[in-house]
Amino acid sequence: MTLPRLKSFPELDRRPPLDRWLRFAAPIQAQYDCEHAAERVEDLRSAILVGLILYDVFNITSIVTLPDILVLSVFIRLALVTPVSLGIFWAIRRTSPSWTERIVAVGLFNAYLFTAFLFYWTTDPDGLFTFMELLTIIVFSNMLIALRFYHAVILTSVIFLVTVLVLATKPGLSPPHFFVLMVQLSAISIFTLYANYRLERRRCRDYLATFDARLQAHSAIADRKVYEDASRTDALTQLPNRRHLDERMKLWLSERRAMALMMIDVDHFKLYNDMLGHPAGDECLRRIAAALASVADQAEDAICARFGGEEFTFAISCRSEFEAARWARILSQAITALEIAHPARTDGIGIVTISIGVARCPGGTLAALDDLVAAADRALYAAKRRGRNRFVMDDESSLTVQFAG
Ligand code: GH3
Ligand code: MG
Ligand code: MG
Repeated sequence: MTLPRLKSFPELDRRPPLDRWLRFAAPIQAQYDCEHAAERVEDLRSAILVGLILYDVFNITSIVTLPDILVLSVFIRLALVTPVSLGIFWAIRRTSPSWTERIVAVGLFNAYLFTAFLFYWTTDPDGLFTFMELLTIIVFSNMLIALRFYHAVILTSVIFLVTVLVLATKPGLSPPHFFVLMVQLSAISIFTLYANYRLERRRCRDYLATFDARLQAHSAIADRKVYEDASRTDALTQLPNRRHLDERMKLWLSERRAMALMMIDVDHFKLYNDMLGHPAGDECLRRIAAALASVADQAEDAICARFGGEEFTFAISCRSEFEAARWARILSQAITALEIAHPARTDGIGIVTISIGVARCPGGTLAALDDLVAAADRALYAAKRRGRNRFVMDDESSLTVQFAG
């Protein structure tokens, strides 16, 4: 299952997710609409078609129940209610979800109103049977269309009041008949509203349960990502740590990429620490890390990690020895450009510098990470032996370059 894009919902802490009219809080409603609006529209469209067909079947029963206004009845059903309903059938695919519900409710009221008019207008005693059509519209709205509870309450209440008015003013309706029809109207209104409430409550609760589960899953994924990031980042310098480096190197090696791996060590760092103190040493490491990282950012595909202590690793996808040497020079110059004073140095350089051992993997062959690191270490050791502040390539030519002090 793919998670929908769940944003954070701080307002949900303050508002209930579902109010007494079974309306979701706005962000949940937006998410619900995102997932279910299209399905709801298709459900409504099929219900409208079924309802319309049945509604037009009443043209046949009108022969018996409305013989005095048969032509008017057929006209109203076919020329007014049917086109409006088909218009709604067309429109709801093109409106927002909140308007969909309103438009459908208005369409139902339209069908009810014309039918109520026929019921009111007929003088035929069998016209009383038309009352059943009014009740059918209530059942249809609340249970088959299953209007959202809020809309169902409004529509049923309006229909109820208008029907009471129609019954109270219909010429020739006897008090016993008025009573019987009122009881039928009340019973159907209450039963169907109650059924609608139960349907809607189940739908809302089911959705809230899945929504809640997904929010929790989402926040668990976010938490896990935070922990994972933390476990792959060096706390002092915020560079990728050795674990992160290992993962990346293993990937590159498995792809048999051409690359250079450089072991970088700060020169005479113990002296720096001893003279200026550990906190100053930490700050120095942070500045060096930032400078190395910005060099990695310039490259298309490179990673700079803290290997441990005052040692860093720089790995870069590159094909030639020349390119590797160019990047080693850029790294070294990036550190000297910081001009971090190193007053404890006795070799006359006076600023913090680095030594670099470079090992290359030509690509196309399977190499082991340990071998590559060991080769870079060997080269680093050679750079230290030869006087520091330089890089050494670990290969036959043992290209060595002295950097400006
Ligand atoms: P060389 O030029 O041969 O590399 O000499 P060095 O003094 O840099 O080498 P050595 O390995 O003797 O010393 C490394 C020092 O780095 C010792 C240790 O106190 C310091 N160090 C390692 N990790 C940290 C750290 O996280 N913070 C600080 N402030 N110092 C550190
Ligand atoms: Mg060291
Ligand atoms: Mg050192």
